[in-house]
Amino acid sequence: MIDWNRLSEDEFRHEVRTFYKKEYPTRLDGVWHHLTWDESRDWYRKLYEKGWSAPSWPVEHGGMNLDISRQLIFNEERLDVARGPDFVGISMLGPILIKYGTEEQKRTHLTKTLSGEHRWAQGYSEPGAGSDLASLKTEARLEGDEYVINGQKIWTSWALDATHIFVLVRTDNQAAKKQQGISFLLAYIKSPGITIRGIRNLTGRPAFCEVFFDNVRVPKSNLVGEPNKGWTVAKSLVGIERLFIGSPKHCQFALDRLTRVARAKGLDSDAGYLDDVTKLRLDVEDLATLYAHFVDIVRRGEELPVEVAMLKIFATDTLQLITEKLLEVSGESGVMTGGATFGNHFIDPLNMYYMARPTTIGGGSNEVLRDVLAKQLLASAS
Ligand SMILES: Cc1cc2nc3c(=O)[nH]c(=O)nc-3n(C[C@H](O)[C@H](O)[C@H](O)COP(=O)(O)OP(=O)(O)OC[C@H]3O[C@@H](n4cnc5c(N)ncnc54)[C@H](O)[C@@H]3O)c2cc1C
Repeated sequence: MIDWNRLSEDEFRHEVRTFYKKEYPTRLDGVWHHLTWDESRDWYRKLYEKGWSAPSWPVEHGGMNLDISRQLIFNEERLDVARGPDFVGISMLGPILIKYGTEEQKRTHLTKTLSGEHRWAQGYSEPGAGSDLASLKTEARLEGDEYVINGQKIWTSWALDATHIFVLVRTDNQAAKKQQGISFLLAYIKSPGITIRGIRNLTGRPAFCEVFFDNVRVPKSNLVGEPNKGWTVAKSLVGIERLFIGSPKHCQFALDRLTRVARAKGLDSDAGYLDDVTKLRLDVEDLATLYAHFVDIVRRGEELPVEVAMLKIFATDTLQLITEKLLEVSGESGVMTGGATFGNHFIDPLNMYYMARPTTIGGGSNEVLRDVLAKQLLASAS
């Protein structure tokens, strides 16, 4: 087993880049939407065989055990690589099971999640509980050795492709604070009583779903962590997620595509375009500096401060501005579904524009994060 942390950061980056260049299927080049299981199965298998499905997981669970610097490099280098349904299982559930799961839960799910045999959906949001997630109403009643779940989840990504779902459920209605009565349960998605309905997004793909629970029975042993402590389990990854979303690579990638399209359209020397793109470029430079600041904090082994929300807001707002400009500069070929060729490059401006829209919602909506910053930083400074 190779210890990737022994390579220098440059050597490791080279290794990852070379692998992707050589092995990434050309049929997926330039694809920016999240892949279905059918689209990604072969590529997923290749990553699994290489032992590269789970960069952050410990080696004993089949991961690469990368330190945080190399995880960031790994994430940055795969930005040109479309993501499949692995994201929820590997980036979200895996680390939670490794930290809070029982030995049986780890044995049952970790290896099968790596191989793609178990594919996960995240059942957190509800029609009345999104930003204010702790208001969730889906409930689970303990009956003997089983929990009985009733309620509805929404915006559940890839539920149609998933084999399993992890759900936040209310197990105590009397708790003093709404965060205190919530538990974290695992369920087989084909359990009797679960109904899934796809929701088409702007791109026309059924990327997320509604999931209904009607007297769904799951064994008590599917509880992760302690009863009524699900909030702590669910929130354990929030800071690091904001750091990943805040990487300047997304914006650098979009800026690169903007530059290629502008060149193909003969706008290189257009004063108006240059003015706009220079402002965007400077924002991306600032973003890279801010990102480096937070990466240093993590490298020193310190907790990420609440200010990391600023990085997430800045990165996603900037990505939206760049993709808006990209769409504008692309002209009529930019609004063609499925992309077009600009110069020698195949680029899909409309899809990039669409994909940038929800980034200001995921990982905590930017409006809510601004509230958090105002309350926790500005209020304490005044
Ligand atoms: C691409 C995508 C994938 C997703 N995948 C999943 C998934 O797999 N599983 C899952 O459980 N959920 C998923 N979600 C749902 C996501 O977590 C919610 O959309 C998010 O929590 C926001 O909740 P909401 O949509 O109910 O909006 P709301 O909370 O109703 O917010 C609506 C608007 O009001 C603003 N707002 C709300 N409260 C405040 C406030 N206090 N102050 C100021 N402004 C406020 C928000 O910023 C937003 O602009 C996904 C969402 C997206 C976009």
